[in-house]
Amino acid sequence: MGDCIFCKIANKDVSSKIIYEDDTILVFEDVNPQAPVHVLIIPKQHIPSLNDIDSDAAEIISHIFMKIPSLAEQLGVQDNGYRIVVNCGTDGGQSVGHLHYHLLGGRTLTWPPG
Ligand code: AMP
Repeated sequence: MGDCIFCKIANKDVSSKIIYEDDTILVFEDVNPQAPVHVLIIPKQHIPSLNDIDSDAAEIISHIFMKIPSLAEQLGVQDNGYRIVVNCGTDGGQSVGHLHYHLLGGRTLTWPPG
């Protein structure tokens, strides 16, 4: 999608610190980390938000979740634990309109969120 920053990252038109990549997903460091480990997992295909997931996206979503444990291991947070966050829409705090999963860890994370 023309103006989408995460599409530009997926297409390598904008640089990022890539952690993992395959045919369908890209994982890169968040530019404004909220924890010692903070990466974003995105589908390369433009899906605007969680609200836009349908059966066509099922394989990608499943692939993302299946990949998370090995990413956590690669990032050194598998044993101590980590958090996956998907912000959706205005109240959910979504600021980039391309579906993304935050993987946060490396410190004890507080709950509930503000
Ligand atoms: P959200 O608020 O859930 O939409 O999360 C968007 C995230 O994208 C924020 O944590 C930003 O810090 C991050 N972000 C925005 N632009 C970039 C970029 N060019 N490279 C890496 N992370 C980015």
